[in-house]
Amino acid sequence: MTPKEIIEKLLNSEMKLYEIEKYVSVKEATDIRREFIEEYSDAKLDNIGSYTLDIERASKRNMENPIGVLQIPMGIAGPLKINGEHCNREVMVPLATSEGALVASINRGASTITASGGANARVISDIMTRAPAIKTENAVDALKIKQWFENNFNKLKEIAESTTSHGKLLKIDPIIIVGNYVYPRFVYSTGDSMGMNMVTIATEKILDEMTRETSAIHIALSGNVCVDKKAAAINIIEGRGKSVVADILIPKEIVNKKLKTTAEGIVEVNTVKNLIGSAASGSMAYNAHYANMVAAIFLATGQDAAHVVEGSLGITTAENRNGDLYFSVNLPDLPIATVGGGTSLETANEGLNILGVAGSNKALELAEIVATTVLAGELSLIAALSAGHLARAHQELGRG
Ligand code: NAP
Repeated sequence: MTPKEIIEKLLNSEMKLYEIEKYVSVKEATDIRREFIEEYSDAKLDNIGSYTLDIERASKRNMENPIGVLQIPMGIAGPLKINGEHCNREVMVPLATSEGALVASINRGASTITASGGANARVISDIMTRAPAIKTENAVDALKIKQWFENNFNKLKEIAESTTSHGKLLKIDPIIIVGNYVYPRFVYSTGDSMGMNMVTIATEKILDEMTRETSAIHIALSGNVCVDKKAAAINIIEGRGKSVVADILIPKEIVNKKLKTTAEGIVEVNTVKNLIGSAASGSMAYNAHYANMVAAIFLATGQDAAHVVEGSLGITTAENRNGDLYFSVNLPDLPIATVGGGTSLETANEGLNILGVAGSNKALELAEIVATTVLAGELSLIAALSAGHLARAHQELGRG
């Protein structure tokens, strides 16, 4: 079949979008599908059609029905000095964004951190979770299933770990019961992968065993207690992905010179905005804009972009210590990877290579880098708000 005939069939709904590869290569199918969309929507797609990425490889692992590639501008911020347990060096951070001023602002934060001797960063916990929804006859049976999971932990761990060489089942906790429904939260470590596919496959095997041995019914592999790609208190309290903290003590002179404000001013903005304002609005995220840094670094390094919703959670603290500024960011729910998922896409791999964290044994290092980048961006924005407030105060005083 010629490309023209395929496009004709697509326009007449005689062929499905995913059937093109039956007749031509993935690369040709990509071009045909894009040409079809150009006709269908009357849009010119020259830029989406211009790329270097191996679309055949990507179409097997990362998405279906390819038409091309999205380009997002990428900038760089740094050097950013990190005094971490896993990352103890200066890094240049790649950031993909379309939000003007974001990279410049993070760069200013990085410069402030580096001039102050670097920021501390530590990974507090490292887990990935999957919590299916299970149906029993009534609450009495639900409790029996909970006990079955608890009593058979060692056997279930063996079953789960037979599906992966890197995944480890650490615990099943909590096991929530609602009437006749049971939601066991399976907690794994997943090495350097983000782990969602890994824990899904392992948990499915456990549920097969449950179905064989008990009368409980598995309703859904994810029962929303995981909690994947949604903001949730359980993730904040128990952690999900990497739970990371980064903090710094910035000398008074550097606060004044680089951030054009004072520790007192930053503490006030943090209290009024990040703490009181977030409480007043019922926000789950007590910070100014973690999502900005998390999204930009996620896009630059091939993380699952939908996990920005989880990475946006966390609390910023600030203290005035005799004019010096203590500042911290806390990210309890940061799903990230240096292998698997989108990290092997060519541009993502280059982004990871800029940071020196592509491949195995690097995920904890990346976690400390993301947290410190969040620290840089958060610091810079809170400082800008504080400096603006100071500038306005000076203006008003001047007028008075
Ligand atoms: P994956 O690419 O499916 O699995 C990671 C693979 O890397 C495994 O085959 C693992 O082998 C291997 N591996 C090699 N070296 C490793 C190392 N050092 N540490 C850990 N694993 C290593 O990735 P995933 O992280 O499990 O899942 C990520 C994908 O899931 C993303 O594409 C994401 O978008 C998607 N996702 C899925 C769901 C879902 O519900 N299924 C939800 C959200 C996102 P072994 O297993 O043999 O150890």
